[in-house]
Amino acid sequence: MGFLLAGGSVFLNGTFKTADVAVEDGRIVSISPFLPRENQSVIKIDHLFVVPGFVDVHVHLREPGFSYKETIASGTAAAAAGGYTAVCSMPNLKPVPDGPETLQPELDAIARAAKIHVYPYGAITAGEQGQFLSDMAGMAPSVAGFSDDGRGVQSDDMMRAAMKAARALGKPIVAHCEVNELLSPGGCVHDGTWAKAHGFPGISSESEWRQIERDIGLVRETGCQYHVCHISTKESVDLIRRAKADGLPVTCETGPHYLVLCDQDLQDEGRFKMNPPLRSAADRDALIEGLLDGTVDCIATDHAPHCAEEKSRGLRQSAFGIVGLETAFPILYTQLVETGVIPLELLLDRLCTRPRRIFGLPGGTVSEGAFADLTVLDLNRPHAIVSSAFKSMGRATPFDGWVVAAAVAATICNGKLVYTDFRREDV
Ligand SMILES: [Zn+2]
Repeated sequence: MGFLLAGGSVFLNGTFKTADVAVEDGRIVSISPFLPRENQSVIKIDHLFVVPGFVDVHVHLREPGFSYKETIASGTAAAAAGGYTAVCSMPNLKPVPDGPETLQPELDAIARAAKIHVYPYGAITAGEQGQFLSDMAGMAPSVAGFSDDGRGVQSDDMMRAAMKAARALGKPIVAHCEVNELLSPGGCVHDGTWAKAHGFPGISSESEWRQIERDIGLVRETGCQYHVCHISTKESVDLIRRAKADGLPVTCETGPHYLVLCDQDLQDEGRFKMNPPLRSAADRDALIEGLLDGTVDCIATDHAPHCAEEKSRGLRQSAFGIVGLETAFPILYTQLVETGVIPLELLLDRLCTRPRRIFGLPGGTVSEGAFADLTVLDLNRPHAIVSSAFKSMGRATPFDGWVVAAAVAATICNGKLVYTDFRREDV
């Protein structure tokens, strides 16, 4: 059964044009200014925008193992509500997917409950313990890449071996970069002026960028495709900019929170605690610079839900991680596009196009014959973010109560409406 998205502004070859989009059997069958509407199920979207479905290459869906925090069903419902048609899920699960047998429960849960496409990562090391390589070859056909997210791979030799193996398998290494030796006990916020003024133990910038620096050296040696998770420091931006200038296969992501917040915005609440932490204003500005000049390839949320109790213990004692899938687009659009910092087209490139290119994922265009993975945006719907209304089981967000200008009106995955929030006058 098909339907017609009628009269929207459609993102075609990099620009918006008014057109109807006909969807049938999971695919876009035609795009044209006026398509026949007889015998069609018509969804009128006159004031709305149609773009390729967003991709988030860094989410934690918590199943199997931690379903009290999130499940494949709730996490992908949150993703659909955020305009995402695909996510890549991190392997800090129980069991850790470090071989075909331990990956299978996650694949089964995805097949059973996912509302959108979910591409899992396999672990780099067995149990994410950093001691032995995982069965990378055994997992390769089913994973987007390899990551020990949540931990840096400390041993140079282990990372070198992982890169060689990943290179041979044609998969990227997706690295959470953190040098344990450079961490001080209890670090919970950026080691900067705010931490000193308020007496909180800090997490140094160097703990992040030192490992990126090491890994870039290993990429030079091995030729492995290498993607850095959630960069947060100005030094990281510089290192990756230079690696790209040298022609190395290095890409990176940052999170919405690192682009619009800094340590001066901190409050002593769990919803402001994540790893890496909110850095200085200069780091935030360097990340925006990197977004503009192409150094920062993707914006990924690092959606990391926890239960309310785990986030209720202030900055010092709460678990690391915030939710992000349901706030990313409205926050980025309001804070960066409406203010004129970046064009909408650039934001769409970082949310739709580049992540797919880096990870070789299907989709990413609105074109005839393409899979109907689409997001319908309302760019004129001022509203406040209300975390208690999230589809995610996690509620910890620094953006609770923020007023935003835009909303996701619908998400279409495989030609099916997986999320709708049309206003009465839209339909
Ligand atoms: Zn991480």
